[in-house]
Order: sequence, then C-alpha cells, then structure tokens
Amino acid sequence: MLMPQLREMVLDPYPLEQVVGRAKPAIASILERSLEGKELGFDDGLALLDTEGNDLIALIRTADHVRKTDLGEVVTYIVNRNINFTNVCFVGCQFCAFARHRKDDDARTDSTEELLGKVQEAIDRGASEICMQGGINPEMDPFAYRDILLAIKAKHPELHIHAFSPMEIMYGSRRTGMNYSDYIQMLRDAGLGTIPGTAAEILDDEVRELLSHKKVDVKTWIEIITAAHRAGVRSSSTLMYGHVEKPHHVVRHIEILREIQKETGGITEFVPLRFIHTYTALYQRGLVDPPPRGLLDLRMYAFARLMLRGRIDNIQTSWVKLGTGLAQLTLAAGCNDFGGTLMEEQISKSAGADAGEYLPVETIRCLIEQMDRIPRERTTLYGRVTNESAHTTSGDAGWRGGSSALPAGPELAH
Ligand code: SF4
Repeated sequence: MLMPQLREMVLDPYPLEQVVGRAKPAIASILERSLEGKELGFDDGLALLDTEGNDLIALIRTADHVRKTDLGEVVTYIVNRNINFTNVCFVGCQFCAFARHRKDDDARTDSTEELLGKVQEAIDRGASEICMQGGINPEMDPFAYRDILLAIKAKHPELHIHAFSPMEIMYGSRRTGMNYSDYIQMLRDAGLGTIPGTAAEILDDEVRELLSHKKVDVKTWIEIITAAHRAGVRSSSTLMYGHVEKPHHVVRHIEILREIQKETGGITEFVPLRFIHTYTALYQRGLVDPPPRGLLDLRMYAFARLMLRGRIDNIQTSWVKLGTGLAQLTLAAGCNDFGGTLMEEQISKSAGADAGEYLPVETIRCLIEQMDRIPRERTTLYGRVTNESAHTTSGDAGWRGGSSALPAGPELAH
C-alpha cells in the first residue's frame, strides 16, 4: 500500500465506536476488552496479528485510543548517539550485514581515544545518552566493556550510558569467568546506566537456531535481563519481525516480556524492529522474502500497544528501520516515543536501511507536530529534560537530516 493510502487509513475520521463496530464480532470483542483495560491472551494476540481491512483499521484506531487514554498526546524523543565500537564479530547471525571477520579490510575497533572523541561530539551536541553496542570481538580484552565505561565516566560522570546487549553480557561474563549477576554489577559500578533489550530477535529457540545458532538462547536472555533488573540496571525490550517468524512466535515473545515485566518492572519500553533484509545472508540465500511494507508494520505496533497495555507503556517507533514517513504514521497506531537522534547508525544501514544515520532534533519535533502531537525531549528513563530549548535551537551544528556529517557509529540490531 502506498503512503497516501496508508495515511488515509490510519487517520480514519470516523468515531472509534463506529470503526470497532465495522470489525468482525470476534475482533470487536477483543478490542472492547482491551479498551476496558483487560489483559489480552495468547489467542487474542493471534487474532490481532491476522487482522486485515476493517479489522485492521479497528485495531489501529483502538491502539491509538488506548495510547491517548493512557499517555496523552506527548511524543517523547531522546538526544543520543549510537556508537558501534567494533564491527568484528564471530557469531554469524543470518540477519546481520554489519559484522566483519577480524581480517577483513573494513574490520575496525574503536580505540579508547576514538570512543572518547565520539562521546565528546555527542555531548557538544546536547546528547544525554550514549548507546553502545558492538560485535562480539574475541580479540577484545575480557574486561574491555568495564574499561570502556570507566574511561567514559571518568570524563563525563553525568552521561547516561545505555550499553551492551544480553549477548555482549553473556560473552563478557564468560570471558571474565564471572556469573551474570556479578558481571552486571561490576558494569553498573563502572557506570552502566541501562542495557538495550536487543539480541532478542524472536524469543523462541527454534527460530533462533535458524537465525543464529551461536546466539544467546531464550533462557539465558531472560536470565541476563532479569539479573540486570535486579541489580537496578533497567532495560529496553525489542522484537525483530518480518523474517521467518510465525504469529505464534510473536505472541509468545510478547508474553515473555510481559512475564518479565510483571516480575521485575525493569523494562522501560518496547521497540518493534522491522527486519531489514537487503544485504543479509537470510535474504541473499533465498530463505526469506522481503517483508511487505506498511500494513505489517502498523499492525505490529498497534498489536504491541494492546498486548502490553498496563505492563509496558512506552512503545517506541524505529525511524531507522521504517523511514521517517512510516515512523510518523506509527504515532497514530499506538506509539508514544520517537526514539533518538542517534547520530551514527551502522547496523541497519549495513543491512540496507536508507533512512539515514541521524535525525536532527528539529526534524523529529516537526514530524511529531505534523501528527498533531506534542514533542518532548526525555531522558533514557523517560524523565523530563529541562533545557530542551538548548537542543531546539541547535540549528546546523551537525544535526542535519540525510547522510551523517559525523563519523559513523551505529545502533546495533543484535
Ligand atoms: S547481530 Fe550482533 S552478534 Fe549477530 S553477527 Fe551481527 S554483530 Fe554479531
């Protein structure tokens, strides 16, 4: 479906009651239960992922209504920078086009000085957060992650560091011989603020075997995320859709996140991540078709809003994966957060994403306002930033759209 048609569908002008009334009775009943604040179950999730036509429009409008009821009209965003400090990785995920073998010509690992230079650039442009993830590089020192944190925090104690996926934590833990809990506490004490809930892809071991048989398994992923939460290190949560997964995998994944959240309350947000296929082995070996664009994405975001209602309130869109136009439309399909400025993004770009490596604050605010919503800068933990005007007048200080004026650094997909 083309963008104008998608926009027309999402911005359907009819009253919600009428729109839900046009859905099949079984779908309308699920939507009504969600509107009443009841938690949806596994079969409800499956039904929502199968919606089309009037049913899908009703799902999207209900998700938008729930977002408005629960969170109001504010759309948050964060001024941050991604740093993908190494692209050397031996894991071999079939959906990844970012990783390099250590002997490849374009293999690279940032030195501490390079890292600190990137952090300084981000701070100069008003960033409150650094997001760091990298490949699983066997040549790095066992305590490299801790030492990176110490080096950054020594210079910038106020900066929030959102870093190291459960895969990196598993690897660091093994290399140091520490258990997950002790390892995470060591990182926390060295300055780790929160961790990305990436390396999740689909939380099903059969799917994971197909995507990456060396990757952290479901049990370990859960163990690491909950150990982090217990240590006071909160996390985001993600799901990668549009590849080999089936609807029941997606629903089960959401249920796992809900269970974790019920237990720890440590998840800050949920970010559905569209699979970017072009340069991945998964696509190039003919194992998947390109995911359809538009309806699949809107359905996923709206589904997430309803399934996670009352558990994970912040649903973040991914402009890197979707492009800015479609990301804008997800704001009317349940999203209340536009993610970050990023400044460097190499992982999705390596796989074929063409949305650029960063968005200036002005562009993000404009995209939000065009949807009649209220932009508001936030911290990593969704607190308010009081000096917003400093960013809104940042002008051409390197935060322009299109290709990056800064040295590249990424948002990791793993
Ligand atoms: S997604 Fe991460 S772990 Fe997997 S191959 Fe790419 S860099 Fe390595």
